[in-house]
Amino acid sequence: MGEGMSKRLKVQLGGSEAEMEERAFGNPYPDYPPHGAAAAAAAAQPSSTDLEGKRCRSASPQRDEEDGLPFDGDGKITSYFNRRVTTKIKDLLQQMEEGLKTADPHDCSAYTGWTGIALLYLQLYRVTKEQSHLQRSLDYVKRILRNLNGRRVTFLCGDAGPLAVGAVVYHKLKNDSESKECVTKLLQLQRIVLATDSDLPDELLYGRAGYLYALLYLNTEIGPDTVPQSVIKEVVDSIIESGKNFSREERKTERCPLLYQWHRKQYVGAAHGVAGIYYMLMQPESNVDQETLTDLVKPSIDYVRHKKFRSGNYPSSLSNETDRLVHWCHGAPGVIHMLMQAYKVFKEDKYLKDAIDCSDVIWQRGLLRKGYGICHGTAGNGYSFLSLYHLTQDKKYLYRACKFAEWCLEYGAHGCRIPDRPYSLFEGMAGAIHFLSDILVPQKSRFPAFELGPLRKESQEEHNS
Ligand SMILES: [Zn+2]
Repeated sequence: MGEGMSKRLKVQLGGSEAEMEERAFGNPYPDYPPHGAAAAAAAAQPSSTDLEGKRCRSASPQRDEEDGLPFDGDGKITSYFNRRVTTKIKDLLQQMEEGLKTADPHDCSAYTGWTGIALLYLQLYRVTKEQSHLQRSLDYVKRILRNLNGRRVTFLCGDAGPLAVGAVVYHKLKNDSESKECVTKLLQLQRIVLATDSDLPDELLYGRAGYLYALLYLNTEIGPDTVPQSVIKEVVDSIIESGKNFSREERKTERCPLLYQWHRKQYVGAAHGVAGIYYMLMQPESNVDQETLTDLVKPSIDYVRHKKFRSGNYPSSLSNETDRLVHWCHGAPGVIHMLMQAYKVFKEDKYLKDAIDCSDVIWQRGLLRKGYGICHGTAGNGYSFLSLYHLTQDKKYLYRACKFAEWCLEYGAHGCRIPDRPYSLFEGMAGAIHFLSDILVPQKSRFPAFELGPLRKESQEEHNS
């Protein structure tokens, strides 16, 4: 549903219905398998003249290919779709670089600052193998490492992000001494993370799980013993202790043995909530023992599952009853990753079923008016389809991911809100570029600063070659 329609609805409907309408665009694409161009056109109705106009202008002589599927029988992206995405990436990169000239020079975070841009170029290097991208990443890393502020400890918002990305970039450039120096500095932050008298939260964005991610990232990107297991264990144990203590305080030991809060709210989602924390604890590289997983993590996940809305979505916090947000940070697009990981670890179909329900609500309500970013935008929602495709090999989810990418190809044409940091990785354009570059090699996609690559020797071999 386009802009015009939604404005009319806003006037007609009162209260929350109007508000819900305001959060997402109606999905104009037919679901998989699509029935040709006619179905696509029919499903796009009713649409605003604005959007239609732009869609007409974007039609190309290769209309036939455009109407077909964007991938072949093996799930390989067609050369036509590849070309469209690659062209858009170049275009957006240019816009981003131009826009960054006025960005905050002191924001070094992965979330909204320069580390996010370094990560984007690292990703472009991973996908294209073009050395210039790695060099670009290094340029940003150098500048960031001069500007660490020591205020926070997480990968996304603190110094752990710049140091971890620095370590990986230097490693790829075979500069081992610089790389090791970054690792050493990163490990020095552990003292703050483990301090028992601190009020550090446990969540991914500002807390211990966000530091844990940085450690696991180093071990998957550089090599399995870059960070010693003993260090990882101490951080994991402190997260588990903290969750047990708070659950006891809240008298929920039976129902939800690992409970967490941030600013006195028990958030559910990936950024501030339990979904992100459980997700990190279930990573194989976290090495949490089977007993802890079964006795503490699993019942806690099941507790969250009982909060599921009929739509398949999840609340932003345990005390919230409104089915509103469908973002990676709050709602199904973050929770789905926890569910998929639970399915991998516990091998029970109920987790996969709930993940599929998440995917359905993201498909219906995931083209967000907040924009095209990763944290609360369409690109972040598109990643949920790619991950579900990895897990199931069902092309339905690859198709859905491609359609969300197609939406991002019309960046700026839908009348979305402009985020505060419009070119950043988690709020803005860099995030959309990251997602588009992952669409080119969908089998290897990774939600940045969240999903980990497999533990393998590839990076080591690459290093020695
Ligand atoms: Zn967000």
